[in-house]
Amino acid sequence: MTGTNLVILGTASQAPTRTRNHNGYLLRWDNHGLLFDPGEGTQRQLLFAGVPSTRITRILLTHLHGDHCLGLPGVLQRMTLDQARDPVPINFPASGEAWVERLCSASLGRPTRQTLEPVDDSGGTVTDPPLQITAQPLAHRVPTLGWRVEEPPRWHLLPDRLAAAGVAGADAGRLLAEGSIHIDGSVIRLEDVGEQRRGRSFAIVMDTAICDEAVELAEGVDLLLCEATYLESEVSLARDYRHLTAREAATIAREANVGHLVLSHFSSRYPDASGHVAEAAEVFPAVTAASDLEVIPLRAGGATPPPL
Ligand SMILES: [Zn+2]
Repeated sequence: MTGTNLVILGTASQAPTRTRNHNGYLLRWDNHGLLFDPGEGTQRQLLFAGVPSTRITRILLTHLHGDHCLGLPGVLQRMTLDQARDPVPINFPASGEAWVERLCSASLGRPTRQTLEPVDDSGGTVTDPPLQITAQPLAHRVPTLGWRVEEPPRWHLLPDRLAAAGVAGADAGRLLAEGSIHIDGSVIRLEDVGEQRRGRSFAIVMDTAICDEAVELAEGVDLLLCEATYLESEVSLARDYRHLTAREAATIAREANVGHLVLSHFSSRYPDASGHVAEAAEVFPAVTAASDLEVIPLRAGGATPPPL
């Protein structure tokens, strides 16, 4: 499948339940496949989701608690079995490198192929053209990074201006590629017949107390995937373990003015997430709760953003 969407592989915090696998999220972005936080069982969830392991082009960990990384050995071994073409880069908070190394050599068998690309615990950037990936530190009990993925602004050609300028067919593609073309002796430039629009964007905020960095990561994104481990009725637990309530996740979404808030990482004490959605919707109405194996488009209905 082409396009940009988020495959939900698991939605449970700490311990899986009968209906929720450990965390795991695959962001399919054209030919990129960014796998975030593969918890235990992610290899099998990929199978249920109908996604081959070779679709993964990068793995990113928010932190090294087990519900966010225990699936790494299985995923890496499966990529080896499936003859993934290139070593897969793995990004994670640098202070967790010893645990990542252990996870990458967790059993006997064919060696897995990966390159470790730690990111400073205080944040940083990852180059994966055309994607711009940035990390910011969150406020959990151990070093944790939230991630933001976006692409540069894109040119959109306007049909009426194209027609007026006499640009048609393959010339339109050439104009997008080259920036300007000659037609009947006159120069047509992109800015004459098109306009720039904001690129697509995504943020993941997992395992944190509420903090400014979460809002900065999420600023204006199309889709924010955010932990909502607890409800406000358990706010004291959220404080003790440095997690978010659904209301707090919604507050981040509202302050960051995101397009769509998706809640996940639910405590096993809740039989379903209807309470989370109801609580969050009072603060930020464009909210849904993630379900295992759901596929969520980055931009609802393929909407295009307004011009810059
Ligand atoms: Zn967790």
